[in-house]
Order: sequence, then C-alpha cells, then structure tokens
Amino acid sequence: MESQTQPALRVQFWGTRGSLAKPGRSNVRYGGNTSCVQVTSAAGTLLVLDCGTGIHDLGRALTVNGKKPVRGHILIGHTHWDHIQGLPFFTPLFVPGNEWDIYAPRGLGQSLRETLAGQMQYTYFPISLEQMGAKIRYHELVEGTFNIEDIKVTTRYLNHPALTLGYRMESGGATVVYACDHEPFSKPAEVASCEFNLRDRRHVAFLTEADLVVHDSQYTAAEYPQKVGWGHSTMEYAMDVCRAAGAKRLAFTHHDPLRDDDAIDQLVTAVRAEKADELLPLEVFGAADGMVVDIAANAAKQSEISAGSLSAVITDSAGVVEHSVLLAVANPAFAKSLAEAAHSHRLRVLEAKDGESALRVARAEHPSLVIVEEGLPGTDGLAVCRALRGADPADGNDVPVVILAGVEDRAAGQAAGVTDWLTPPFSPTYARTHMQAWIMRTSCRWQRAARPVDEAQRLATLRGLNLLDTAPQERFERITRVAMALADVPIAYISFVDENRQWFMSCQGLSSKETPREVAFCAHVVVLRQRLIIPDTLQDPRFAENPLVTEGPRIRFYAGFPLILPDGSCIGTLCFVDTRPRQFSEASLRAFEDLADMAKQEILTKNG
Ligand SMILES: [Zn+2]
Ligand SMILES: [Zn+2]
Repeated sequence: MESQTQPALRVQFWGTRGSLAKPGRSNVRYGGNTSCVQVTSAAGTLLVLDCGTGIHDLGRALTVNGKKPVRGHILIGHTHWDHIQGLPFFTPLFVPGNEWDIYAPRGLGQSLRETLAGQMQYTYFPISLEQMGAKIRYHELVEGTFNIEDIKVTTRYLNHPALTLGYRMESGGATVVYACDHEPFSKPAEVASCEFNLRDRRHVAFLTEADLVVHDSQYTAAEYPQKVGWGHSTMEYAMDVCRAAGAKRLAFTHHDPLRDDDAIDQLVTAVRAEKADELLPLEVFGAADGMVVDIAANAAKQSEISAGSLSAVITDSAGVVEHSVLLAVANPAFAKSLAEAAHSHRLRVLEAKDGESALRVARAEHPSLVIVEEGLPGTDGLAVCRALRGADPADGNDVPVVILAGVEDRAAGQAAGVTDWLTPPFSPTYARTHMQAWIMRTSCRWQRAARPVDEAQRLATLRGLNLLDTAPQERFERITRVAMALADVPIAYISFVDENRQWFMSCQGLSSKETPREVAFCAHVVVLRQRLIIPDTLQDPRFAENPLVTEGPRIRFYAGFPLILPDGSCIGTLCFVDTRPRQFSEASLRAFEDLADMAKQEILTKNG
C-alpha cells in the first residue's frame, strides 16, 4: 500500500441509503445499506462516519484484510436509528486489543454512551454495550476544530430535527466534507432562488473548496414543499451550496428508500442537465455502496492548513462544555424568567443593561447565545445585532442573536441578521425549550399560535357567554363522551381559548381544567378557523417539542374542530386526542364535524 501515488484521503462508501435499509433486486447498484462512510488518510488513520447497516460490511473487511489490532475513530453525525443501527453488529468493537474512539454531538440531555447503550437494552438486543471487548472511549462534540492523528476535523451544526453535526476532514491538502441529514436553513422560496440566509451562507463556508462533499440529497426540489421540516436536502440545493462553495465533487447520499437504481440514475441525470449551463464546474454523482473515491495530495494547500492554530473543542463524557448566554434585557421580570431558563440548562448568565455594555460583554466573553431587548437604553436591539454581525469572525459574528420584543419585525430582523424573535408573554418552559434550540443552532419544533386579528371581539363574545369557570354541565359532558366513543380516543374535550389560557368546558380523559394558551393546540385552530388534523405530532415541526407532546398527556394525534359563533367569533374547539398516531376517513371526520356543530348549538342555548 505504501506507494508514491497513495491518495491523501480515500473515501469508501459502505451505506448510502437514508432512513431505512432497503435491499432488493432493483437496488443492486446503489445498494440498500443505511449511512456509513470510511475515510482513510495516507498515514492510515481510519475514520468511520456514521454506523448505519453499512458498517457491517466494513467490519468484515477490517477483520479479513486489515491490520491487527484495529485502531479507529467513529464520527456519528446524529443518533437517529439509520445512523447507529449497525453499531451492535460491528465486530471490530468486540475484539479485545482493538481500540476505538466514538464521537458524536453533545446534547443537553443524556450522554452519548447512554444513548448508544439504549438501543442495546435487553428488549432490543442480546448483548449489551459493556460486553464489547475493545477499548472504547466516548467523546462528545460541539462546534470547533480538533485533530485525529494526521486529519484535521472541523464540526458544524446542521439543520435536522435531532442535534446533528457535519464533519469537514482535511489531510495532505485534500478536503472531504460529510454533511448528512441536513435541511436548508433558508425558506423554500429563498432556496429556489439561491438567496441564502446567514446560516446557509455559514453552511457554504463549511464546504469551501472541498475536493469532495458527501451531502444529504434525499429529495428533489419538486418534492421539497411537501417535506419541509423533515430535516433533509434536495439534490438541487446540495448542488447550489457546493457550487457557491467552490467544491469540486459532490456525492448525493441518503437516497430515499422509495427510489430504486433506475430512479436514482434518472434524477442524477436530470439534475445534472438542468444545472449544466452554470459556469462553475462541479462533478456530481450518486454515491453507491462499495464505491471508492481517492483524493490526491495537494502540497500547496497543505501548508496553508497546518499554519492555522487549532481550537480543540473535544471533551470526553465526563467533561462539561461551558455555554453562556448574554441577557441584555432591561425589563426585570423578563430578565428573571430568562435567567431561570438559563440556569435550568446550567448555562452561565452574563448580564448587560444597555446596548454599549452588551457589545462589550459579547466581544469579551464570546457567549453561545445573545438575547437582547428591543428598546434597550443607548443602542437598541437591532443595532446591537447589526454591530455583532459586522464584527470579526474571531469575535463571534455568527453567534445566535434573539430579539425580545412585543412585536416581531421580520423584515428588519432579517436585514440585521436576527436569528429569532421572542415575544411576551412566554413561560419558563417556552424559554427553556427555545434556548436549547438557539444554542444548538437547531430549529425548535414547538410553535405558539399567533393571536387572531379579531382577538378583542372574540374574547368579548366568549366572556359574554358566561360559561368560563362554571361547573360542568351534563349537556356538554354528553357530547365529549360521545366524541370519545365515536373516535375510540382516550381524550376528548371542548376547549374555550381565553386570553392567556385554554379552559375546558367539558373534558374526558384529562384531570386538568385548563392549560397555558402557548401550549394549546386549539389556539392554532382559533387562528386557522378550520379543522386541524395532526396524524402524528412527532412528525409535525409545529408540535413535536410542545410540552403536551414531550410530557403528559403525550399527545400523538390531534383533531380540533372550530366553534364559530354567528357573529364570526371562533371561541374554541371540540377536540379528539390520542396518545398514538391515528388516521381517520373523510366520512369519520365529517361525523366529528357534526358533533362540533351540536356542541355549538348547546353553547348558543341558554343555560338550563
Ligand atoms: Zn438519516
Ligand atoms: Zn436523521
């Protein structure tokens, strides 16, 4: 193997299928194994990216042909099943004398070791993680740069429902980027016109001048509008970001399980032809199980890479990554509530009372998150954001900046580079859930409903009914009991959406009489003014991290029907809720609607 022409990096694909292993006669050429890619440096440093089912064949190859004992590094992008399912079948982990380091993004929840051990519990698998014979070390990563032998590795958060890192590997002047399970940060219309927002431009920078980019491209641009929020890219977007980055080659991967060999061939040919008129050369191909790509050394680039100073950001499981949040908030009640949310994540809190000191603290302390109130004394919130964005990259010009304001100004915010808005009122739970997402640079999959335009009239009508906070009445109880039986659901209720809460006129299967409005699914129906059916809340970016989904009563299915009174006010809903995903026929949904009409008639009937 030691020859003059040895590549600086050799990339071998072992699994290129997304989501689900898909063997079969029509998938012979691209293969059916889920994500696994081997990267080997000229000096023999062995990296394994993800451990989907493809890692099984890699394990056999290492056992049969490799040097003994085996020394390697497994870099996991995220711990969704299709990226870790092969791990218990990777035989080199069971051989005493072998040494492995396993790396994955550090979450705010359980440790990497606990997560991996979870899929090997007795219920799922006969052998536990502890029974693996090799010496295994676990490392949890944040964004940054570190060295593995002769390979420089840079990590970057991707956009996926689970906390996910992409890996950029550089050695001998050759660069390979693995960006799997990533969705555009920009809105679909912006993606279509290549007008990338700040976070997508950061993604482009991550791919800069790579010799090979292995990129998620599960969907096509035509399919994407139906797949927004699922955490995957389109072939067209992958090409556009690679071209903007000046990358040389692009391997499409995470092939949709619905595509066979011919379908992948056709899509690659079509997308290649569609983008062929572009000036910048970019070689694109569909990655296939078993494919090998060699990248030659490049002496000119090599010196440039080794000159920079490396910030090691890697920690083992016992270490603590210290994140801090800068709160430039004048309102004492909001400052207190945000500080509580920060403390619940063990975040260090930095405070500033005016715009100038906010900028000074941000530059000196490099916080992981900045929350700034709009009407701060001195410089206002948007000006602080603009100043931070204009700073040197070394001073953290890409720190997430959240503006606390009574009203969102999306256009001004986008121009200033604002990451997100926080509008009062918000609960500590809401602040805590979103704070985690901002710091981890992922999207928070819990949205509050907006206030409807006729809010004042609506509230007046609701209160005029004199039903809020009254005792249960048999005529409403009867309706929710029938609802429960008709849909065969454990929970059914009539909800009135009040100013800051939803209150249950009648409720079967829940012990509480009300919940905060920000968690209420029904608050969305009041804005939509039409039925809202959510077959599976975990698949819906508006509700997947809503506390009513992640904690009790763990709503998985929701069907809400609006109660619109003759004056046009939508005061609340009749709801059907289940703790498992459900599908109903149109005929059933119409029967539910009839029941909602009956509830409305009862509301309009005077008491007694
Ligand atoms: Zn995946
Ligand atoms: Zn995933």
